[in-house]
Amino acid sequence: MSKKKRCAICGGVKKKSIQTVDRHWGDKLLIFEDVPVEVCTECGEVWLCPETVETMEKVVKSGRAPEKTIPIPVWSMKKHLQPV
Ligand SMILES: [Zn+2]
Repeated sequence: MSKKKRCAICGGVKKKSIQTVDRHWGDKLLIFEDVPVEVCTECGEVWLCPETVETMEKVVKSGRAPEKTIPIPVWSMKKHLQPV
């Protein structure tokens, strides 16, 4: 646990945090709240430990009903950005 304290991308210091994490699952977007993560204080990359990811997968595959379902707005930026 203690030897991987540094960010693998930039070598920055990682800090423990609790965050909301989104994951694409096939064509779905799933949101996980209250996820224990480590955040790089330099580049902001969020790191999840393998056990956490495994548990997230387990919960989804178990078919357990989520605590809540929220509608997610999607915008295509094709319409809103000027062609370069
Ligand atoms: Zn970093």
